[in-house]
This record gives sequence, structure tokens and C-alpha cells, in this order.
Amino acid sequence: MFENKDNSGNSIGDLGEFGLIDHLTKNFVIKQKSTIKGIGDDAAVIACDSKKELVVTTDMLVENVHFDLGYMPLKHLGYKAVVVNLSDVYAMNAEASQITVSIAVSNRFPIEALEELYAGIAAAAQAYNVDVIGGDTTSSTTGLIISVTAIGIVNKGEAVYRSGANDSDLLVISGDLGGAYMGLQVLEREKQVFLVNPKSQPDLEPYSYLVERQLKPEARKDIPKLLKDLNVVPTSMIDVSDGLSSEILHLCKNSKVGCNLYEDKIPLDPQVITVCEEFNIDSTTIALNGGEDYELLFTIKMEDFPKIKGNPHLTIIGHMTKEEEGKHLITRANTKIPLIARGWNALEGKE
Ligand code: ADP
Ligand code: MG
Repeated sequence: MFENKDNSGNSIGDLGEFGLIDHLTKNFVIKQKSTIKGIGDDAAVIACDSKKELVVTTDMLVENVHFDLGYMPLKHLGYKAVVVNLSDVYAMNAEASQITVSIAVSNRFPIEALEELYAGIAAAAQAYNVDVIGGDTTSSTTGLIISVTAIGIVNKGEAVYRSGANDSDLLVISGDLGGAYMGLQVLEREKQVFLVNPKSQPDLEPYSYLVERQLKPEARKDIPKLLKDLNVVPTSMIDVSDGLSSEILHLCKNSKVGCNLYEDKIPLDPQVITVCEEFNIDSTTIALNGGEDYELLFTIKMEDFPKIKGNPHLTIIGHMTKEEEGKHLITRANTKIPLIARGWNALEGKE
């Protein structure tokens, strides 16, 4: 029951996702000595033994908010539900070790459909070497809901937080950005075509990379290892689930620093550029706000620059500044504009 009905119009959408989380969780205080990090990072960190710490993170995917079964094969959905959680584990510089999987499902699903979903979950567990150790199963009167919790392990003191960036650090991103969002645009367009003409056979070949980024994303398990091999300790890290600008602003806020992001440095796959032209959308806007890239965004000390310079997996896209200098995008035309996060916000029903 909802007790306080005298609530004149404070809508969840006005607060936004992060405002809502802050609002709901602001009164929780940490009481356990073993809780090293609670709410506010990609994963919580818990003391384990004298050598190790555990990380725990959870993410939920909701039908018609996060996925559309009109074009998302269930096997891919299972895979993606695992990957988006593992991405948060790697963003803490940890190794993923176990997952639990909870589903709420309506009886419109035949058993074969759920077997497909679990084939995807099994494939991801295999690919990322994690054990499925539990979960929960319940019914849903509306859509399908999948909630995965991922557990990881990290050497004591080696977890990397959103809060560790210094004001002269370099800002680095793995891979490239905007592909998953443009993949979604392509799939949405093909869905509309299909609704008008069910006999149409979409040719997705020119969009293969984008569609794969949307339907079968991978988490960057390789990046923490790569950094270790290069002897680089990131000072802060976050995964890119909501869009580059939103994630940069999280690092800035938590680390109490500003930043300069250089538009011309943002890595884009050629397919993203071509398809942005086709859709008449600005590719920078997509990279900044698109989301679901599951790349790792991190900061490193300036002196580590030679160690990562020229690495094909990593791009330096900017640097942090003193907090009072603000957070800026330096455009290709060399103008300095405030960096704002438009992100994709499930609570606004935008995606
Ligand atoms: P991410 O995008 O990395 O998954 P989120 O933005 O979902 O992170 O969450 C940010 C932080 O808020 C995390 O520490 C998460 O555990 C916490 N959080 C999110 N939703 C809730 C909630 N309903 N109650 C408590 N903590 C939450
Ligand atoms: Mg995250």
C-alpha cells in the first residue's frame, strides 16, 4: 500500500534515474566494517579476507524498456543480461566469478523460449568464465524481466573507484562509441518497415557491426588485464552504459575534478559515421548520449602516457582539470562548450 497519497505531483521522471537513486538512498548509513564501498559506484566492495575483496553489482532488464522481443532474439537477450552486469565488475578492476539470475515471466512464453534465454546465459557464463550459482523465478503479468547479480573478486586495495581521478589525469576510453545506439536505430527502422510490409527481408549486412553492438555486446574483461600487463593503474574507472558524457560527469562529480573532452578524439567506428550520415544525426551527439557501449572509461596519471600511447584498444580523449574549471567539450571548431549529459533515461521512457 502507498501510505502518503497527499503527494502533489512529484514525478519520478522529474528527478531522473540518478536523482531518484540519490533521493531514495540518501539516509542509508554503512554499519558493517566489511562494507568498503556501498551505493554510488559500478559495484559495491566488501572485505573478504586479508588478501581479497568482493565486488557485487546488479542490473535489471525490462521488456519494452531495455529490449524489444520484436528484434531481440532471446538467446542474445540472455547473453546481454549477463554481459551488462559483468561490465560493472570489470569497471571496478575486478575479475567476475559468479552470477545469479532472476526472471519474471508471463505464461505466454513457451518453455522453448526460456530455454533459448538460458542458452544465452550459459554462453555468456562460459565465455566469461563465471558460475551461475542461483536466482529466482516468478511470474509477470506484463513483460519479461531479467535481473542478474554479478560477483567478482579483486586483490585487497586494488579496486578502482569513480572517485580517484586527479586534476591532471588523462581521460581514456576503450574501443569505440555510439555503435549500440545506432544499431538500435537500424533495428527500429527495420521493425517499422516490417510492420508495414511483413514480407520484407531486411538486409542488415551494411550494419553488421552496429547490430552486433546492440544485440550481442561484450564486456571489456580484457582491459583490466591489459592495464595490468602495461603496468598502468587507473586512478578512476566506470563503464559506459548510459553514454560517454553521463559517465564522464560521474567521474568528475565523484572525484571532485573538472575535465576537457576533445570532440575530435572520440573514437567512432566507420559504420557509426556512415549510418549517422544516413540518419542525419550528429555522430558526436550519439557517442556522448547514446549509451550501451559497455566500454571502459578511466583516468590514468599523465606519466603513464607512454605506456598506453598507440595502443589500438585505448584512446586518450581528454584530461581532467581542477573542479572550478568546469566540465567542457572542446569541439572540432575549437570552441569550448559545457559538457552536459542527456543520456538515455529509462525513467523518461526515452529508451
Ligand atoms: P550502473 O549504471 O553502473 O549500473 P547505476 O546508475 O545503476 O549504476 O547505479 C548507481 C549506484 O546506485 C550503484 O551503486 C547502485 O548499486 C545503486 N542503486 C541503483 N538503484 C538502487 C536502488 N533502487 N536502491 C539502492 N541502490 C541503488
Ligand atoms: Mg556501470
